[in-house]
Amino acid sequence: MSFADLGLIPEILRAVADAGYTEPTPIQAQAIPTILAGADLMGGAQTGTGKTAGFTLPLLQRLARHANTSTSPARHQTRALILAPTRELAMQVEESVKTYSKHLPLRSTCIYGGVDMNAQIAELRRGIEIVVATPGRLLDHVQQKTIQLGQVEMLVLDEADRMLDMGFIPDIRRILALLPAARQSLLFSATFSDEIKKLADQMLKNPQLIEVARRNQVSETITHRVHPVSSGLKRNLLAHIIRHEPDAQVLVFVDTKFGCSRLAHFLNRHGIRADAIHGDKGQAQRTETLEAFKSGATRVLVATDVAARGLDIDDLPYVINFELPHTAEDYVHRIGRTGRAGRQGNAVSLVCAEEKHRLAEIERLIKLTIPQEVVPGFDPEPDFFDPTGKSRRRGGGAEAGAAPTGGEARARKGPERSPRSQAKRPAVAADGFDFSKPYEPPATPMPEVSSSSGNDRESPKRPQRPIPFLLGGLGRK
Ligand code: AMP
Repeated sequence: MSFADLGLIPEILRAVADAGYTEPTPIQAQAIPTILAGADLMGGAQTGTGKTAGFTLPLLQRLARHANTSTSPARHQTRALILAPTRELAMQVEESVKTYSKHLPLRSTCIYGGVDMNAQIAELRRGIEIVVATPGRLLDHVQQKTIQLGQVEMLVLDEADRMLDMGFIPDIRRILALLPAARQSLLFSATFSDEIKKLADQMLKNPQLIEVARRNQVSETITHRVHPVSSGLKRNLLAHIIRHEPDAQVLVFVDTKFGCSRLAHFLNRHGIRADAIHGDKGQAQRTETLEAFKSGATRVLVATDVAARGLDIDDLPYVINFELPHTAEDYVHRIGRTGRAGRQGNAVSLVCAEEKHRLAEIERLIKLTIPQEVVPGFDPEPDFFDPTGKSRRRGGGAEAGAAPTGGEARARKGPERSPRSQAKRPAVAADGFDFSKPYEPPATPMPEVSSSSGNDRESPKRPQRPIPFLLGGLGRK
């Protein structure tokens, strides 16, 4: 199928060809005709599927009748509103709008918080057809009467699940109340919780449901790997892994802003060029950091979940979870940065004993038992392999900076997909997956760990089975 088959006008087809796209992605093939027909849409698609063009191309076509070159602001009323949860995503979406509208005289702008409002006010005064905004700043403009929403014909809510996580739903409801009732609305979300469905009920009229990947499903082209490691050895292991991939760009996720800067600092001290991005950094600094990473000038970017939202890099080979996310859905979001558009990607997680329950939740969500490999010299706490969880915890191992020595290699590889009974369980999803069932560890026996040894990296009774490592194991090409 070609873009021309979808009924797009020549101005948009030219822009798509300029972008180098030859065929629509599955979400585009489904969403474009639906949106062109004027229907509301609930789109289940994660980032990396081409969803931005999926809604932007038909949106532009539906607004093409308003396109004009007049300098009068009155001829450029706001016709479309695209809401995004973060500044980075909003900027990226607006960049796409500009790219795809380059042959149409339609104006777009991006408004987000954390910067002075005056430049945005001046821009809005010129008259803008397509406004991409974060919810809070949009409401600031509404309050100051610097934006008029009375002529909005199309509303897009991008990454609705993230809006929910970030507490934006009340703002969204306020914005909905300000928009004309007769409009076309589109909602995109990678996951659909009950809260999102409730919002969709409020916002959409007889929506078409389009889902390109089963909910919470991760790309098939991603190789997942867990390295069990004690928390005190994580930083050294990270440096070790990165050094083994001297050419690869790596996005590293951490839980906290503080940990983010500290880890980037640690890597730099150990000769690895790294930068950090988190919510406390100023907008100009965040944009600069992202640009440096996108251009390849920075090899390693350490990020928090919120800051990395919307980070769109075409060919990112590695995502490393320095800490596992608190919610399993965030794992899906994080690793959505790799393995895009059919490319191979690697999702590597450094997991200490305390994070085992998070790992179990992730495996349950993505329905995959992730292979585990202990990197020699970077053993986990002894209770990592204790299925009863009763093993006494001992010291956290060598601290950062010390070269790790000794330790044995262990590998526990579970089956790629763990069979789970569907019988007699409540809360079975439409796709047959049972969300209520607790995680079952794979049947593969775990290595025994003595709890009497004083040093968890030198237990003498472990199997002497060196494992292929690093990121791709022996099978890696
Ligand atoms: P998105 O899911 O919107 O974040 O898009 C992910 C990436 O796919 C972006 O870098 C787009 O430029 C790219 N992309 C979107 N549509 C296509 C297409 N039809 N063919 C190739 N790449 C595309």
